[in-house]
Amino acid sequence: MHHMTLAEIARGLADKKFSSEELTRTLLARIAQLDPQINSFISLTEDLALAQAKAADARRANGENGALLGAPIAHKDLFCTQGIRTSCGSKMLDNFKAPYDATVVSKLAAAGTVTLGKTNMDEFAMGSANESSWYGAVKNPWNLEHVPGGSSGGSAAAVAARLLPAATATDTGGSIRQPAAFTNLTGLKPTYGRVSRWGMIAYASSLDQGGPLARTAEDCALLLQGMAGFDPNDSTSIDEPVPDYSASLNGSLQGLRIGVPKEYFSAGLDPRIADLIHASIKELEKLGAVIKEISLPNMQHAIPAYYVIAPAEASSNLSRFDGVRFGYRCENPKDLEDLYTRSRGEGFGSEVQRRIMVGAYALSAGYYDAYYLKAQKIRRLVKNDFMNAFNEVDVILGPTTPNPAWKLGAKNSDPVAAYLEDVYTITANLAGLPGLSMPAGFVDGLPVGVQLLAPYFQEGRLLNVAHQYQLHTDWHTRTPTGF
Ligand code: GLN
Repeated sequence: MHHMTLAEIARGLADKKFSSEELTRTLLARIAQLDPQINSFISLTEDLALAQAKAADARRANGENGALLGAPIAHKDLFCTQGIRTSCGSKMLDNFKAPYDATVVSKLAAAGTVTLGKTNMDEFAMGSANESSWYGAVKNPWNLEHVPGGSSGGSAAAVAARLLPAATATDTGGSIRQPAAFTNLTGLKPTYGRVSRWGMIAYASSLDQGGPLARTAEDCALLLQGMAGFDPNDSTSIDEPVPDYSASLNGSLQGLRIGVPKEYFSAGLDPRIADLIHASIKELEKLGAVIKEISLPNMQHAIPAYYVIAPAEASSNLSRFDGVRFGYRCENPKDLEDLYTRSRGEGFGSEVQRRIMVGAYALSAGYYDAYYLKAQKIRRLVKNDFMNAFNEVDVILGPTTPNPAWKLGAKNSDPVAAYLEDVYTITANLAGLPGLSMPAGFVDGLPVGVQLLAPYFQEGRLLNVAHQYQLHTDWHTRTPTGF
């Protein structure tokens, strides 16, 4: 039962082959048995899951038939869930029970999904390895000595290990696409403003975007359908009609113009990954796509710009966690100053503290023009590169990451080494564009992802290309041994 995709589950439930309650009990037992190996959950919500499953079964018995009705999922632990711990992977919020549901959570609940639990993540979504979580590192089901990617490493590892068919995640600089690549999943970061950020604990507000992590493009279409849409509670949500994503999957790729940026194949890219990317290009050519070399000349500036903008916004967003208004409070403070410094010093981990310091520095009066303003100008150049490219091509293709998943601990002493791994993903966040990662092969037994980027609101096009590719390849069907 645990091998079924969301689409297969929807068919099985509609045909009454099994009930949502049976499926939910099976998956909860599987989580209890296998999650100790990978640590992908921070909280399990068995009682809620069984209540939601029974309610979904009752709705189906009454003739309802939505694709997500009775489908088990989990939420990354930065989506607020009413009455349930929402920790953001941090000691700071270890005892925080959200007083309301995030829009994504309430929309998916209304569609009838069953919440099995809250998944592990890098603390406040800062990281690319899921090692900065206060609840411990997550392990990659493909090789337990390797990281699953981050920051949505818990959602990715859980889906890859077949503990559940799909999960929600968020992507500020790659945190949906990079863990998807590292664990052989399909992950979609939507256009900025497509999915509501209301109730999603903020890391860098101008970059954060929620989206689906699943095994197939077909499943990402189903989950995105339940997540997307205008939300008056989020001032950056965009009032644009939501298309039928499943209906977009079957378009022909004949004549589709795929741009391949020449800058992507530089020295930093593992040549074995480059070979797999070229193989995926050949596959898409067979399906009728036309390949064109393009250039994104400002790509080299994206990492420094991102690692100014994201920490700057984080330092502002995280100021609310002061032990008074929100978050952990230290024991026996001497005075107010002591309360603030010790609450924040004890509540936040070292990567979060590093980002707050970098961000506060970049925003300070004497340095604002030199760093923050400069970074914003680079951001515009990065966006302009994409606008120029999309005058010539329909999608942009390249690797999701320069290397496969590294060993646990390998980059802990050198944060910049980890930041450099984000080179292919962060440009989409800087520009607000949608991006998707899908399985494209293996290097040393570890999965490799190919990334597709499209113009604003062309999520359907990304899902179409990925689905057609998945109809003709079987990388996405491979399962890690032991799971
Ligand atoms: N690795 C990037 C960072 O640490 C991206 C994280 C994310 O997308 N949340 O900021």
